[in-house]
Amino acid sequence: MMNNQETTTFPSLNRRDFLNVSAGAALLFAMGSFPGVLRAATAHALPPLPYADSALSPVISANTIGFHYGKHHRGYVDNLNKLVAGTQFADLSLEKIITGTAGKAERAAIFNNAAQVWNHTFYWRSLSPKGGGEPPSAVKQKIEVSFGNVETCKKELATAATTQFGSGWAWLVLDGGKLKVVKTGNADVPLTAGMRPLLTIDVWEHAYYLDYQNRRADYVNAVLDKLINWNFAADNLGL
Ligand code: MN
Repeated sequence: MMNNQETTTFPSLNRRDFLNVSAGAALLFAMGSFPGVLRAATAHALPPLPYADSALSPVISANTIGFHYGKHHRGYVDNLNKLVAGTQFADLSLEKIITGTAGKAERAAIFNNAAQVWNHTFYWRSLSPKGGGEPPSAVKQKIEVSFGNVETCKKELATAATTQFGSGWAWLVLDGGKLKVVKTGNADVPLTAGMRPLLTIDVWEHAYYLDYQNRRADYVNAVLDKLINWNFAADNLGL
C-alpha cells in the first residue's frame, strides 16, 4: 500500500548516506530549496502550487494550470508511486531516484516520471505572479558577468525555449561557477550533469497550447517578461 504520507517520520541520514548522494542531489541539499528532499519517502506527494491557479493569468490561464498542475503534474506523481512500489527505489528521495535511474534504459519509465515530478515542482517556483522585470541586483551582477546583460540572458533563454525540438525544457543553470542557458528534451534535467538549475521554462505543448496554440514564442516571451521569478534564481544561488 502507498498510504504513507510526507508526514511520516524517517530516520535522518547518516554521514555515509549523505556522502552517497550524487553531486546533483547534494547541490540541491545545499541550496535548501526543497526541505526534506533527502528524506526517504514511501509515497511521493504532489507539492502545493505556490499561488492560486488563476494567479498567472492572463499569461498562463487557470484552465492551463488546471490541466498542467492538476492532471499532468499529478499524473507523474501517481505514476511514479506505482512504478517504484516494491522496487529498490521505493524508499528513496526523488533526487536519489533521478540520479539512480538517469541514463539506464531499463529504468526509463521511473526516471521519466521522477524527473517530471521534479521539473514541474521547479517550474512552478520559477514563475511568480510578481515575476518578470529586473532581477535583484546580486543576480543581475552574476548575469552580467556571464552574459553581459540581462537582455542577452533573456534572449538566450527565449532562443533555447523556442528551438528545443519537440517536448522539453529551457534552463538557466550554474555550471562551474558560471551562469549559462541549456535546453533538455522530454524529462531530462541538468542536475544529472552536475549543473545547478536556477530557473526553468516548460516548453511541452501542454504548458501553452490551450492559451497560445502553436505560438510557443509568444508564451515564452510573456513568461520571461511577466512571470519569471528572479527571486527563485537568487534563492538557488544562495544569494
Ligand atoms: Mn509540463
